[in-house]
Amino acid sequence: MSSRLSEVEKNLEGILKQYWGHQSFRPLQETIIQSVLDGKDTIALLPTGGGKSICFQVPTMAMDGVCLVVSPLIALMEDQVKGLRKRGISALAINSGMSKTEIDVALDNAVYGDIKFLYLSPERLLTDILKARVAKMKICLLAIDEAHCISEWGHDFRPAYRRISEFKELLPSVPTIALTATATPPVVADIGDMLGMTEPAVFQKSFTRQNLTYVVQEEENKLQRLLKLIQYSNGSGMLYVQTRRDTITKAKELRAAGVSAVAYHGGMAYKDRVEAQDLWIRGRAQVMVATNAFGMGIDKPDVRFVAHIGIPLSIEAYFQEAGRAGRDGQKAYAVLFSSSADLSDLERKGAELVPDNETITQTYRALTNHFQLAMGSSMDQPKPFDISAFSSKYGLNAGRVYKSLKVLEKEEIIYLSESFFSPSKIQVLAGSKDLYSFEVAHPKYEKLIHFILRSYDGVFDQLVRINENNIGAKLNASASAVKEQLRALEQFRLIRYQESSDLPFISFPNDRPGVSDLKLDQGHLKAYRQLQESKVRAIREYVENDVVCRSVQLVEYFGEKDALPCGKCDVCIAYKGKQNNQETLDRMNNLIREEVGPYGIHLHQLSILKTKPTQEVLYTVRWMIDDGTLTMDDLQFIRLTDGQ
Ligand code: ADP
Ligand code: MG
Repeated sequence: MSSRLSEVEKNLEGILKQYWGHQSFRPLQETIIQSVLDGKDTIALLPTGGGKSICFQVPTMAMDGVCLVVSPLIALMEDQVKGLRKRGISALAINSGMSKTEIDVALDNAVYGDIKFLYLSPERLLTDILKARVAKMKICLLAIDEAHCISEWGHDFRPAYRRISEFKELLPSVPTIALTATATPPVVADIGDMLGMTEPAVFQKSFTRQNLTYVVQEEENKLQRLLKLIQYSNGSGMLYVQTRRDTITKAKELRAAGVSAVAYHGGMAYKDRVEAQDLWIRGRAQVMVATNAFGMGIDKPDVRFVAHIGIPLSIEAYFQEAGRAGRDGQKAYAVLFSSSADLSDLERKGAELVPDNETITQTYRALTNHFQLAMGSSMDQPKPFDISAFSSKYGLNAGRVYKSLKVLEKEEIIYLSESFFSPSKIQVLAGSKDLYSFEVAHPKYEKLIHFILRSYDGVFDQLVRINENNIGAKLNASASAVKEQLRALEQFRLIRYQESSDLPFISFPNDRPGVSDLKLDQGHLKAYRQLQESKVRAIREYVENDVVCRSVQLVEYFGEKDALPCGKCDVCIAYKGKQNNQETLDRMNNLIREEVGPYGIHLHQLSILKTKPTQEVLYTVRWMIDDGTLTMDDLQFIRLTDGQ
């Protein structure tokens, strides 16, 4: 490669430095960016924390026009928008929790303002307002983040992602980039097909995490083991447990043993969740004990271990959660504690993932009652939805309700967002005259009404954010008194008042079928059950297989062949203990040395892989790296350390 960078390359590095302050690109980032700039449809597979965002953000900054980003989680979108704005780049998000008016205003800003990034929830793609506005925008790139959500075979299927293909028809000449960190080969193929990509350029960085040591430990006394791990790894860590109750009890047990631990689960109040998260991120609490509700979008670099008590329901889920360890590239551990009870539990949980027809229909009936939704009508305006309150109101089991909702979502009967904090908002619906006469008749509202009119620009035209605590402080009243008055004003139809919530949002995108017409596609359901069963089978195999390196097992699941054993997981350690024929080892050593030669070679080009047992060759390479004879870079190119 020439040492003089081309103009374009210099320019891209300049952008990276100017806006992000990073000194250079990581392996593949630049190649991916170049592919996008060449106008090619591109699929980028990089591990979690690998720097996928840069791959669509930097080329956008090098082009004219707006980048549309589809992202599955509101929290992720908000994070990215915040991050971009902090760097002086204008960005905006339209999420599934926003009302029609809010979306309208935001889109106006996007069309007439100088927006570079517009983040969109997939559910919002095909609305008429969006389609009309998009036609007016100059769009340079369509980026699909977490693109595995488009595939039924992935672990996070979001049916709304399928709408991207329809949406893409509106933008025939705009290049598309799809990004993900967890995609098996069928999922990658699906991503390309679903996005109508013809011959996409696919870039994949090995999913191997060099600095991570995976361990599976069969253990009945998990607490003792865990304490050892905490002591040994000497830093921040996470413990994933199976139930909300376990987060509380395990955190307590850890504290009793002298470890500062906090708990986190989806049922906690927003305030408490944020507090726990903060304590842990700032290193004031050493261990975060959480359900799988925790973690998405958390970018804490110095996590030294991620432990699991109980087995996640898929390799994808495990890989994602474990992958939160060691994002800073320093040594870290991913330990799965399992017991025979966990393994039998796994079977049962897998079978329960897709409820029977009866249960799904029951949930659906309760839903339509709950929202008083007449047959044939739709509910486009998303509403906050409290699953546990709903379940107890209708005497249903919350877990089964949740799983039924997932099926209804899969069939596109409902959309359900993740739980998400949305602040309180108000909009004044009445004219000034009506307000005035109301005030005269009800003087106790005078202060509040005046305050609203004085303080919020545009409150007649759109929902604006408010904070009842702040209003209370200004008016010498309590927050709850303010809320009560706001609720009353809404009763009088003078204002619209949307109270803050940290619940998921639900909407019915299509005309709702009658309960008796709820035709669940039995073929779909069967395939869905089989899919879940195969995922459970795969993670069971991971737990039980003690002959293939843990890291190799994981990346093979994602389609990588002949990956290098890590040399440090429980399987590798046991394997090493069994190799004691020094002569054979030396011979293998020499053969590899010769092949690598003075110029180096790509791991998979070693011809000795064809003539000797693969496992032995790969282990020898691994040990030669570990004893300093060889070095290997991120793209699996190996060299002799001494160059001889
Ligand atoms: P992903 O989406 O692949 O999980 P992100 O795009 O969120 O990863 O990036 C993860 C972290 O890596 C971020 O903190 C980002 O700033 C950092 N990062 C990305 N590219 C580079 C780079 N070239 N140099 C230094 N840091 C980088
Ligand atoms: Mg990302």
